[in-house]
Amino acid sequence: MKKVSVIIPCYNEEENIIDFYNTISKVLIKSNKEYELIFVDDGSRDKTKELLKKLKSKKNIIIKSLILSRNFGKEAAMYAGLKESSGQYVAIIDADLQQDPEYLLEMENILDEKEDYDSVALFQDKRNEARSLKFFKKAFYKIMNSISEVDFISGASDFRMFRRNMVDAIVDISEKNRFSKGIFSWVGFNTYYLPYEAKKRNKGTSKWSFWKLFKYAISGIVSFSTAPLTISTILGVLMSFISMLYLIFVVFQKLLFGIAIPGYPTIIVLILLLGGIQLLSLGIIGEYLARTYIETKNRPIYILKDKYEGTGKKK
Ligand code: UDP
Ligand code: MG
Repeated sequence: MKKVSVIIPCYNEEENIIDFYNTISKVLIKSNKEYELIFVDDGSRDKTKELLKKLKSKKNIIIKSLILSRNFGKEAAMYAGLKESSGQYVAIIDADLQQDPEYLLEMENILDEKEDYDSVALFQDKRNEARSLKFFKKAFYKIMNSISEVDFISGASDFRMFRRNMVDAIVDISEKNRFSKGIFSWVGFNTYYLPYEAKKRNKGTSKWSFWKLFKYAISGIVSFSTAPLTISTILGVLMSFISMLYLIFVVFQKLLFGIAIPGYPTIIVLILLLGGIQLLSLGIIGEYLARTYIETKNRPIYILKDKYEGTGKKK
């Protein structure tokens, strides 16, 4: 019998845990596979941890709960789950029931039937989000795809299922600044893209603020492309070239006409423009340097505080 691991990152999801567990159990009981639900408590400050401790394993559903020592972010939580998983198939799903667990069965079927595919990823056809957010997400994917070597499918989520070989490849990538959507695509293999519609959050609010998403987007770009560095080099070359031309022009003007033109506005504009470009370039270099700095410290991606297994007892 095939074993399927399902990873559920949870951050302050006390209102959803029980609903989620009841819903997913009802779905999975229909299947003939064995399941391992790996809940990862990502440093929640509410009752999430207590609720996870109480969850009991069922007939074909084993419960494991990993309690991280603080909030490391969804990326780290997913990594912790992948690392602890042991199934032949491994899936990731959110705890807020926005992603219907019924799709898990569909993903399994695809992997069962289509041997060429190593993973199934769900992407949102239509996004039920604010128009401004949709605009920024779309722009992000456009930029990403044009400057990075890996493909990013617009609307693709972390709601996915992998075969074991792909999970091992993902776990092997131990970079700290993780941008999973990039990593999932970077490791290669064949991914089957399945459209789905995300539902409204069951309870609670999204853990992603606009600012968090913005930082995440910058992190994605810096992790998967060095194009911004090239852009600042090109800008530098271009500005130097224009300055040279202007220098020649000024010298000839002086020699031929001998008049010093009052050029105060020109000077101010140039100083501001060049200063701006220099600061921008420094900032870009800084982003890369900061990431190199974090990587060289080689700290772990997450720290496990506790581990519970389906019986309410510590493991
Ligand atoms: N999450 C997490 N750590 C975080 C933020 C979120 O584990 O720091 C989990 C969260 O509990 C949920 C999933 O990641 O199960 C998706 O988060 P959310 O629903 O807030 O994101 P959205 O659906 O709005 O993109
Ligand atoms: Mg959500």
